Amino acid sequence: MTEAPTRKCPICGKPAVEKYRPFCSKRCADVDLNRWLTGSYVIPARDDEPLPDAEGDE
Ligand SMILES: [Zn+2]
Repeated sequence: MTEAPTRKCPICGKPAVEKYRPFCSKRCADVDLNRWLTGSYVIPARDDEPLPDAEGDE
């Protein structure tokens, strides 16, 4: 084993660089992070659905 195969950036498919593994650049790393974060923040807008009447004890 002399060289590890170059991994491709999962965002754009370019060869990744060691500094930003597994991405090719900070930009792609940010894109991935943003995807991840926004994916967690996807909240369906359901204004017309009444909230379940929860018990009001604190
Ligand atoms: Zn990239």
